[in-house]
Amino acid sequence: MPRSLEQFQALVENSSDVISLVDQEGQILYASASTAAVLGYQPEELLGRNGLDLVHPLDRDHTVRTLQKALAEPKLPNRTQARVRQKDGKWRWVESTASNLLDEPHVGAIVINYRQIDSRRAEEEERQRLVEELTRCNAELEAFAHTVAHDLKEPLHTISAFTQILVKKAQLAEADRDITTFIIEGVRRMSTVLDDLLSSAKISFSDSLHPVNLEFAASQAMENLKEAVTSSGASIKMEPLPTVQGKQSDLVRVFQNLLSNAIKYRSESAVEIQVTAERIGGDWVIRIRDNGIGIRREDHNRVFGLFRRLHSEEIPGTGIGLAVCKKIVEGLGGTIWVESEAGSGSTFCFTVAADVAADRDWPTVCSAKA
Ligand code: ADP
Repeated sequence: MPRSLEQFQALVENSSDVISLVDQEGQILYASASTAAVLGYQPEELLGRNGLDLVHPLDRDHTVRTLQKALAEPKLPNRTQARVRQKDGKWRWVESTASNLLDEPHVGAIVINYRQIDSRRAEEEERQRLVEELTRCNAELEAFAHTVAHDLKEPLHTISAFTQILVKKAQLAEADRDITTFIIEGVRRMSTVLDDLLSSAKISFSDSLHPVNLEFAASQAMENLKEAVTSSGASIKMEPLPTVQGKQSDLVRVFQNLLSNAIKYRSESAVEIQVTAERIGGDWVIRIRDNGIGIRREDHNRVFGLFRRLHSEEIPGTGIGLAVCKKIVEGLGGTIWVESEAGSGSTFCFTVAADVAADRDWPTVCSAKA
């Protein structure tokens, strides 16, 4: 144990870590001699400056949060990492610990102790922190979308039900009846958007995966689209499809969204759709080809964005279907894309990892195409 003030001073001044005292706003009251070795500043050059001004803009928010945490938890050390500007203008990664000793009569400051760290390790940890923050924000956003969509459904239902009662009870003139039809139609459209939003927020990657026969999933999707298939007279040809690991309801949804688009965005010709599978390396590439209106090259990526539509109301839709497909396919580790030219049909393709165990039951395809 150091016994005198001089001994404490000697310890601080000879430590390779920088020890610095700041007030609750972050203004520097003291900086130890090693500031020169770590940041290139003489300690007195930093006195009176705000320490946060030296922190990289991208690291400022979490550094402020660490200071706030230290203020709320006196005496407990709070650790963080940040890039700090050296005197020569370059950034240096440091690891710091802030302890709030404002109430200690002999200190009356926040003690910040920091040292230089390996930039690669720091960047990896920073990447990890950002991934965690992004995952948390995404989960919050999805929970928010789910709550909003869920809560809006009830009042919508009320509007629709009471408008219909009004139409039945009141002796409405023809023009007024048209208005109520617009209201009911608007409510129906909004209800479809909310249903799509609710189901897109329901996709969860925490559930375990099971073998899913894609042929069965595609047939189930066609069954769900029976009305649209019959009324459009679409011809759908399906080659043998493999069994993969996934979630049955999600994969049915992928086929359903892609097949229903292939029917919806038809050209003048009779609708012809082909579903095929090709084994490429460790993946299956599933293709859904149509002879519809096609998509311009510059829109190929756009169509997978949430609420992105290339068409106005003349073809009904919510702009959610392809974003949901992307989320499901990428959640299984695959990719999804479209190959198309305006006016010459579209081929939507997605990859899904081959299930080697399941492929053994399908020797012809594996030996021919693997
Ligand atoms: P929705 O069909 O509800 O609008 P999607 O997310 O399924 O939403 O599709 C986004 C947009 O991509 C559609 O509005 C349409 O413009 C375009 N699109 C999707 N599939 C096709 C297709 N098979 N052929 C041509 N355009 C398509």
